[in-house]
Amino acid sequence: MSEIATTSLFDQEPYERTFRASIIEVKEDLIALDRTLFYPAGGGQPGDSGELRTKQGSMRVVETFRDAVNRSLIWHRVDNSSETVGDAVDGAIDWEPRYSNMRMHTCLHLLCSLISAPVTGCGMGGEKGRLDFDLPEMDLTKDEITRRLNELITSQIEVTTSLIAPQRRAELLGLVRNRYALPPETSDAIKVIHVNGVDVQPCGGTHVANTAEIPRVVCEKIEKKGRQNRRIVLRFDN
Ligand SMILES: [Zn+2]
Repeated sequence: MSEIATTSLFDQEPYERTFRASIIEVKEDLIALDRTLFYPAGGGQPGDSGELRTKQGSMRVVETFRDAVNRSLIWHRVDNSSETVGDAVDGAIDWEPRYSNMRMHTCLHLLCSLISAPVTGCGMGGEKGRLDFDLPEMDLTKDEITRRLNELITSQIEVTTSLIAPQRRAELLGLVRNRYALPPETSDAIKVIHVNGVDVQPCGGTHVANTAEIPRVVCEKIEKKGRQNRRIVLRFDN
């Protein structure tokens, strides 16, 4: 028997805000759709919130995440549900937080390019972002990081995606240094994000199409987390 799965519209159309889908599974306050624009929490990027509307009325989506066992299935946690499998749904994501995450996520790829050390952690949300590096000595200052990031942002660098067959996953991981937001292990093609000439890595997140869309950023702090780890925190300079 083949497992049920959700098509990742957020991968194909990261700038779309509304979509139409059908309910394929309902479990208490959780709804799964055949396709969704709602990004499921993962790789340090928060899951999207928004609204689902059916003929019964509208529901707030408060949380989006992948099923722990069937990684191809995406759940939307809603504030009330009386829906049934097969119902048609109109969905709309909350665009402001999602676009902020797309911009910060892309900015974290720029940060990766400045520091040659393995990334051990990643997080973003609320106009902030951070990466943890396995890095005993830090040779860049906050001001240098701020200056170099803003240089890259204003250089208007194109960000493109290529798709690699899932069978090539192991080979692909051998080729890249940074793997902080690995795409989920599904039967889908693996997304590889190219910030042209700056950073290349497989990544499951959502990104902007050009670095010019990222607002001016500030490196807020560099924290020492244990003997080997450095946490670099960025925020938008609004
Ligand atoms: Zn990414």
